[in-house]
Amino acid sequence: MGGIWKTYKKISVFYKVLGGFVMGIVLGIVIGPPAANLQFLGLIMVRLVSMVVLPLVMSMIVVAVGDVGGKSVGKMGALSTIMFTLSSIIAIGIGFGFAFIFNVGYGIEPDVAWEITQAAAAPTVMDTIINVVPNNIFAALTSADLMQVLAFSIFVGAAITMMPNKKHSAMLIDVFSAVGDVMQKVLSFVMGFMPIGVMGIMAWLIGTQGLGAILEFAPFIGAILATTVVLHLGVHTFLFAFLLGRVPMGHFLKSGKEPALFAWATNSSYATLPVAMTAAQKMGISDKIRNFIIPYGIVVNMDGTAAYLGVATIFIANVYGIQLDMTQLIMIVATATLGSFGAAGVPGAAVVMLSAVLAMLDLPQEAVVLLLGFDRLIPGPARTVNNINGDLAVASIVQRFVEKTTVKKPEDAALVEVEEETVR
Ligand code: ASP
Repeated sequence: MGGIWKTYKKISVFYKVLGGFVMGIVLGIVIGPPAANLQFLGLIMVRLVSMVVLPLVMSMIVVAVGDVGGKSVGKMGALSTIMFTLSSIIAIGIGFGFAFIFNVGYGIEPDVAWEITQAAAAPTVMDTIINVVPNNIFAALTSADLMQVLAFSIFVGAAITMMPNKKHSAMLIDVFSAVGDVMQKVLSFVMGFMPIGVMGIMAWLIGTQGLGAILEFAPFIGAILATTVVLHLGVHTFLFAFLLGRVPMGHFLKSGKEPALFAWATNSSYATLPVAMTAAQKMGISDKIRNFIIPYGIVVNMDGTAAYLGVATIFIANVYGIQLDMTQLIMIVATATLGSFGAAGVPGAAVVMLSAVLAMLDLPQEAVVLLLGFDRLIPGPARTVNNINGDLAVASIVQRFVEKTTVKKPEDAALVEVEEETVR
C-alpha cells in the first residue's frame, strides 16, 4: 500500500488530473445517469479552488501595482489591453469563418417552447465602464465580482506607492504579498483533491448528458472545435507566444496543459486562475508580469467566449433563415468583444452574453435554448480552454516588450516544476 502511495506521489499533477478525467469518463459511460451522484466531488473541488480566488486576485494585484510602480503597470496594462482586444477580434473572425465553412444551423428546427423570462440587454460601452467601478467593495467581494475587485485593488496598489510614509508602504506590500503566499499554500493543499474532483465532474457530465445529445449539432460542434484548435495553435501558440513572445511552441503547450485540462473539466476560468498562475510561473513569466496579467486577463480576456459568440450568432441566424449583412457582422464583433470583457469566468457565461447579442440584432433570444442543453459538454469547456490560454500567450508578449526579457529556457522552467513537486 505504501509503495502505491509513493508511486502515486511521484506522478506529476497533470497526469493525476488526466487520470481522474479519463476515469470520470469511463465511470460516466459505465454507470450512466446515477453517475450524477458523483457530481458533489466536482462541486467541492470547484468551491475549494474558488475560495482562494478573491484573496489571491486582490493580493496579487495590490502587490503588482504597489511594488512595480505606476509607469510599469501603465505599460503592462496598455499593451495587454490592446492584445486582449486584438485577440478577441481575431477569435470572432475565426469563429465566423468556421461557422460559414461548417454551415452551422441549417436543418435545425427552431424550438420556441422555452421562453427567456428576463431579456438580457446588449452591453453598451458605458455600461461596461460603469460596471467596472465598485460602489461597495464588500458587495463586490461577496458577489465575487472580480472586475470590481480588480479595479479596487489597482486603486489600493497605486495609493500604496504614493503614501508619504515609505515604511508603511513597504509594510503593506509585505502584508499583501504574505496573504498571496498563504493563498498559494492553501491552494497546494487543494491540488491533491483535484484528480478526484475532476473525476466527479466528468462522470456526472458523461453519465447524465451522454454524447448522443450532440449528434444533431455535429456541424456546430465541428465549427466550435475547429475554432478552438486554430485559436489555440495558430493564434495563441504560434502568433502570440512564439512569434511575438518568443516562447518555444512546445514549451508553451507543455506549460499550458494543466490549466487547459482543468479549464476543460471545470468550465470556469475563475476556478482555473490559480492553476494558470502556476502555469505562467512554469512557463518562466516573471512574478511581476504574471501577478498582474493573469488575473487581469482572466477577468477581461475571453477569446474563446468571443469566438463562440461569433459561431453561435451565425448558427441562430441560419436556424431562422436570416441572412446577416456586413454591418450586422461588425456589430457582432463589437458587442462580442465588449461582452467578452464583461462576461464572468463561470460556466455558461457565454450563453447569457449570447442572448444579449441576439437582442441587439433583433434575432429571437429564445433560440439560445437550442444551445443550452449540451453547452457544458463541449462548447463551454472549449471556450474556457481558449480563454485561459489567451492570457498565458499575452503574458509572454508583455514579458518580452515590457520587461524586455523572453521567458526562461524550458530547462529552467522544468526546475520550477521539480521544486514545486518536492514542496508538495
Ligand atoms: N466558462 C467560460 C469561462 O469561465 C465563460 C463562458 O461561458 O464563456 O471562461
